[in-house]
Amino acid sequence: MRIIGIDLDEVLAEFLEGMCVFHNERFGTALSKSDFFTYEFWKVWNCTKDEHIKRVHMFQETDLFRNLRVCEGAAGGINALKDDGFELFVITSRHKATERQTREWVQQNFPGAFKDVLFSNNFSLDNSSSLRKSELCKLVGASVLLEDQLGYAEDCAEKNIQVILFDKPWNKRDLDGVKRVFSWDEAAKEIKKMRF
Ligand SMILES: [Mg+2]
Repeated sequence: MRIIGIDLDEVLAEFLEGMCVFHNERFGTALSKSDFFTYEFWKVWNCTKDEHIKRVHMFQETDLFRNLRVCEGAAGGINALKDDGFELFVITSRHKATERQTREWVQQNFPGAFKDVLFSNNFSLDNSSSLRKSELCKLVGASVLLEDQLGYAEDCAEKNIQVILFDKPWNKRDLDGVKRVFSWDEAAKEIKKMRF
């Protein structure tokens, strides 16, 4: 079976877009997606890492979070991969406290498309244990990961998982074994060229 892991935020869901709306309303900022030169939000918000975790958790309790927009091209891309017979898993770094909302969002926006949703449980408030994305890929037998974060891309590439990285302002460094793409169309084409 040809199995693919697919990241959620910024690959399927416009997390940062919703987060900016929340943060601007709640904290009086005037930020937009293009202000995020890094995905380490505390560096953009000028706050501590702990404060950033609190703010993200606050956002994750809102309707904005439950209704994130689907990334451009993602619906077509996922359909193309399904039609080609791939088995798909969502592999997200989200913490477990978001599990219900996350599963509902995936089911609502991509009904029946994914075999399961796996959580690496990063940035939890209770400091519960987390897993690496490479471990989650191995767990389900995924040999490819679609991702936007360099850290997760690097972790998987080192474990011989092929990585397709969606180009974003926060991931401008090139890595060995990581293929950069600029759209979902391009991602689907690259996957077809890959050996499984
Ligand atoms: Mg992401």
